[in-house]
Amino acid sequence: MAKQQLCKNKKLLKTDMAAYIAHVEKPKFVCASCGRVANRKGLLCEPLKITRFKQNRCPGKATRNGF
Ligand SMILES: [Zn+2]
Repeated sequence: MAKQQLCKNKKLLKTDMAAYIAHVEKPKFVCASCGRVANRKGLLCEPLKITRFKQNRCPGKATRNGF
């Protein structure tokens, strides 16, 4: 199943930021549980496809992944 979910692998931030960034750049999925983003859904505990939510958004409103 899930190998290394970002949600449960916070230590990657400390140990290998480059690897973490490789997972989160150009994200396609957002975690409905903790708000992380990733480009593969296996990396999140409750992945939702970001494109699902983009279509009805006002394009002028930039919503960055701010916690
Ligand atoms: Zn999560």
